[in-house]
Amino acid sequence: MITTLLDGNKRFVSDVFAKEKDYFADLCKMQRPTVLWIGCSDSRVPVNTITQTRPGEVFVHRNVGNIVATNDWNLSAVLEFTINHLNIPDVVICGHYNCGGINALLHENPEDRYIPIWLNNAYKAMERVDDKLRSLRLQVSEAQRRRLVEEENVRLQLEHLLEYPFVRRAMLDGKLSIHGWMYDMDTGEIKVMQKNDAVVR
Ligand SMILES: [Zn+2]
Repeated sequence: MITTLLDGNKRFVSDVFAKEKDYFADLCKMQRPTVLWIGCSDSRVPVNTITQTRPGEVFVHRNVGNIVATNDWNLSAVLEFTINHLNIPDVVICGHYNCGGINALLHENPEDRYIPIWLNNAYKAMERVDDKLRSLRLQVSEAQRRRLVEEENVRLQLEHLLEYPFVRRAMLDGKLSIHGWMYDMDTGEIKVMQKNDAVVR
C-alpha cells in the first residue's frame, strides 16, 4: 500500500503537476483558501474529492467525529490562524452518516482509553437525541438513532465554535459565516443543515 501511494505521487507529478505548473507555482508564493473545513478523519470522506476542489482552495482540519473542543490546542491554533491571519470567510463543520466515531460514542468499547475521552466532546449530542426521543415517546431503529446523533453532533460542534471569542467577534463584524453540513456516503451528496432544524423532526 505504501508503494501505491508513492507510485500515485509519481503519476501526480507527471500527469497533474506538469500540466498546471503555473497554478502550483502561484500556490508556492501564497495560499488564499476561502473555506476552513472541519471534518471527520474517516477515509471515506476525502474533502477535495467530494467537493471537487483543488489544492489551495480549502484549509482542512480533520479529527475523529468532526469535533470542536475548546481545550484542543490543535484546532484552536487552526481557527486562530485561518480566521485572524488568513481572514477566511467561511467555516464548514461537515459530519457524515455511518460515522465510526459516533458509533463508538453510542457503543463504548471498555478497552479503549483515549477514544471515550475524546468523544466526551460529543456526548451532549447523544443526550439531546435520547431525551427528545424519550419525551416524544418515539421508538426509532438503532441506525436512525445514530443518524440523529450524527446530525445533532454537527449542531453541537457549531455551538462549540461560538465559544471562541474571536469567532463570535468575526461573525458579529460580518466577516465570518459558519455552516453545518452532512455528507451521505450512500449517495455522495452533501446536505446543508438549516439553523432551525429540530433535534428530531
Ligand atoms: Zn466519522
